[in-house]
Amino acid sequence: MDAFHRPTDLDEALRILAAEPVRIAAGCTDLFPATEAKALPGPILDITAVEGLRGIASMDEGLRLGAATTWTDVIRADLPPAFDALKLAAREVGSVQIQNAGTVAGNLCNASPAADGVPCLLVLDASVELASSRGRRELPLSEFLIGPRRTALEPGEMMTAITVSTEALSGRSGFLKLGARKYLVISIAMVAARLVVEGGTIREAAVAVGSCGPVATRLTALEGALTGVPVGEAGQVAQSDLVEPFLDPIADIRASAAYRREAATEAVRRVLADLTRTVPKAAA
Ligand SMILES: Cc1cc2nc3c(=O)[nH]c(=O)nc-3n(C[C@H](O)[C@H](O)[C@H](O)COP(=O)(O)OP(=O)(O)OC[C@H]3O[C@@H](n4cnc5c(N)ncnc54)[C@H](O)[C@@H]3O)c2cc1C
Repeated sequence: MDAFHRPTDLDEALRILAAEPVRIAAGCTDLFPATEAKALPGPILDITAVEGLRGIASMDEGLRLGAATTWTDVIRADLPPAFDALKLAAREVGSVQIQNAGTVAGNLCNASPAADGVPCLLVLDASVELASSRGRRELPLSEFLIGPRRTALEPGEMMTAITVSTEALSGRSGFLKLGARKYLVISIAMVAARLVVEGGTIREAAVAVGSCGPVATRLTALEGALTGVPVGEAGQVAQSDLVEPFLDPIADIRASAAYRREAATEAVRRVLADLTRTVPKAAA
């Protein structure tokens, strides 16, 4: 029978990872659907009992989400409005049962182009902490995701946390997901945006689109065009020429590439409209 490891200590988990090629298991909500067997093919390293790996901590440098933090943990946490996008995405990941088991880090490590957590964390300029018996390193999320189902994780390495710096905690964010139905659906396109508004003007904008390319992408041209614009004009700035050329969608059973491009542009407009409509009076 294949080995099943469930260490309670991170160093022990890293020792197991170094010793044999194990399959890392967190909530298993991606792993189980990916296997047709009754049990996961092993050996397995279950990381859910590792002390200190679950939960969201406030640090001097920003916020740290441990790699075993679930979507439900995100929904229940008291987080700044910059995290609203991730909270909105969390409420739409599968069902409550999936949110209770599935982890945000698992969503990133699975590296699906349709992973709802990715655009939300890209607009927060998130980084990921990776650890192995050789040491630790930190990578921007944009460098961690290198293709569909491909990450920068090296053999013997695991993700230990997702971090967001204090500078990226300013402003408010929003999220919109388009699927073939409202719930329990894989995204056709999804958009996250974070705006920092001062005196009625957009001081900083971050916009990311997912499910419209091999990996989710930031729309830097649109972000530049939005910066310095009065909040009320954000919708007019979000024209398709600042969105569509920067996407590389596939056509599949869910939607054509052209539909995905158009849907993404409309979703960008709607997220921006929602964010600018609800800017607190004091900030505007
Ligand atoms: C019914 C259903 C509905 C779903 N709906 C959505 C949805 O709406 N949106 C969405 O984005 N996803 C959805 N998912 C996918 C899934 O729930 C999420 O991606 C979830 O966040 C995965 O987390 P997990 O902890 O279950 O990962 P797991 O399945 O445990 O792991 C996923 C992958 O990441 C690796 N991994 C996990 N943790 C680490 C780590 N710390 N370090 C290194 N590698 C690691 C594993 O080895 C595996 O390859 C759905 C799944 C199901 C079954």
